[in-house]
Order: sequence, then C-alpha cells, then structure tokens
Amino acid sequence: MAADAIRLSRAPLSPVRVSFEFFPPKSPEMEASLWEAINRLAPLSPSFVSVTYGAGGSTRERTHNTVARIVRETSIKPAAHLTCVAATRDEVDDVVRSYWAAGVRHIVALRGDPQGGLGTAYTAHPDGYATSTDLIKGIRRIGDFEISVSAYPEKHPESASIDADIDVLKAKIDAGATRAITQFFFENEHYLRFMDRARARGVSIPIVPGIVPVQNFRQTAGFAKKTGASVPQWLADRFEGLDDDAATRRLIAAAVAAEQVLDLVDHGVSDFHFYTMNRADLVYATCHLLGLRPRPEQEAA
Ligand code: FAD
Repeated sequence: MAADAIRLSRAPLSPVRVSFEFFPPKSPEMEASLWEAINRLAPLSPSFVSVTYGAGGSTRERTHNTVARIVRETSIKPAAHLTCVAATRDEVDDVVRSYWAAGVRHIVALRGDPQGGLGTAYTAHPDGYATSTDLIKGIRRIGDFEISVSAYPEKHPESASIDADIDVLKAKIDAGATRAITQFFFENEHYLRFMDRARARGVSIPIVPGIVPVQNFRQTAGFAKKTGASVPQWLADRFEGLDDDAATRRLIAAAVAAEQVLDLVDHGVSDFHFYTMNRADLVYATCHLLGLRPRPEQEAA
C-alpha cells in the first residue's frame, strides 16, 4: 500500500467540532441551493456557520440578508465576515451595528483584498479602517462580539515571512480576536509547522484549519495560486484525466478530504472549518467520517 494512501482501520475518533462557510447567493436559484446546503448540514450541530463578504463590500446587503435569515430561521449561530475595503469607518460601523441589532454576535474580521485585485498594492480608504487590527478595535468599541480572524499557514501573499504573519496575528489577538481560521492548504505539514511556530511565539487562541473539499480541481488550483496556497503534484495526479468525469472526481475529492481530516485528527486537531462552496454533499460525507451524526433538533426550519 502506498505510504500516503487512506488507512482504513483506525482507533475510535475523539469528538470533533465543525463550522461551515457559505457565500451569499446572487440569484433565487443560488439562494435555493444555499438553503438546501444549510438544511443538510445544520443537523450536524456546527459550532457556527459563516457567510463571506464579497470583494470591495459588493455583497454587503446579501451577506446581511443571509446572516439575518440564519438567525431568524435556524438555531445555528451565524458569523458574518466583514472587510475594511472601500468603506469609511462610519459605514463599516453601521454594518456592525446592524448585525448587533439582528442578533448576530460573531464577526470574522478581515482587511480584505486590494481593490485592484490580488497582486496589486492594498490602499486603505482615507476614512476607513487601515488594517484588520483597526477593524477589530472598531468592532470591539461597538459590541461584545466574538471575533474570528484569518491565518495563513503558507503565509499571506503580501507578507514577507511566516514570522511577519504571526506578528500580525498577535496584533489581531491583542486587539480582541479569539479564534483564527486558516486559509485552505493541502499538505497538513504546512498547518502543523505553522501551529508549532505560532505556539512557540505565545499564540494560544484556537487556530482552526480551513478545509476545502476539491469540487473542481482546475478551479481550486486557480484559486490556490492567487491566495498563495500550494497545490502539491500528488493532488494534481489524483485528478489527472478526470476533467470530463465529474462523478469520479467527486469520489476522489471525498477520499482526498477524508485523508486530510483524519490525518489532522491523528495529530490532535479537534476543530475544522469547511469551505462548503454552498454545496453540502462532500462536506457532509467528510463530517460523517469524522464521526458526526445528524441531530434532528438542529435542523433549519
Ligand atoms: P491580515 O491578517 O490583516 O493581513 C494582511 C496584511 O496586512 C499582512 O500581510 C500585512 O502585510 C499587513 N499588516 C501590516 N501590519 C498590520 C497590522 N498591524 N494589522 C493587520 N495587518 C497588518 N476576503 C473577502 O473579501 N471576504 C471574505 O469574506 C473573506 N473571508 C476570508 C476568510 C478566511 C478564513 C480567510 C483566511 C480569508 C478570507 N478572505 C476574505 C481573504 C482576505 O480578505 C485576504 O486574504 C486579504 O488579502 C487579507 O485580509 P486578512 O484580514 O486576511 O489579512
């Protein structure tokens, strides 16, 4: 058996906690498929579900509406992503206040990408929050929110080094962040080494691995390139020749995700954040392998 093949016999799994990330829908059809995914995943009792904020604040209304509907219609706790991009501090503060008024108590606070696209220089709005650290301080002034932030096991593309990124993470924690969620990665070694370095530098908050089940290899590889996440050759090899074979790709994707999360469990990881891409099937299967089973009382309305 190849060294990196899935191991089929394992000791019983210790309990794990999961969270799910969705993006706000653009059309009634997308809204229907988002809610199908939420309804399928809600009975797995996620710690929270988060809803992203489009580049440049382009989804402000849609993110808010989605999060508010989760509050109204489900018993799961939502987290709203929020960025500093292209908005004044007053505008961002209004968004934060509207979340508080809607009953939302958890924000994923981010700087956001440069408006010119990844790879261009980031320019803060002259009257806006300049960094994620400033944003966190602003949120804290408004309400006692739980605040999650990003972390980059393979470093942020703009950052000089992983240590510089850990400095930024520490500044975000000093400002009030209580959890980090990582950019996705495929080699667990990147995450495990990052954890060692962060812990050695005194970071003690949870740093939850972000897991992306590979729904579409080409698309994921393209996205990874932009975000600085490396795509190992073994992953490309696993999807080789399957561009026109979606059914086999899905089976491979489930195997790859299972292999990744079960290896992390073996390394003592107990919390996972899934980038669902608004689809439940692969994430549901991966959670099942992690030992999670539906609890009917958590179902969305
Ligand atoms: P930060 O951690 O703030 O770091 C960005 C850079 O700022 C650093 O590399 C550093 O050079 C610089 N910096 C220097 N000093 C400081 C300081 N004191 N404090 C802070 N930064 C400093 N993007 C969206 O548009 N919408 C989303 O919903 C979204 N969700 C995401 C969720 C997760 C879990 C992750 C990992 C990323 C997400 N992103 C999202 C992407 C993110 O917006 C981009 O990666 C962006 O380029 C950086 O924002 P950040 O908050 O992650 O970066």
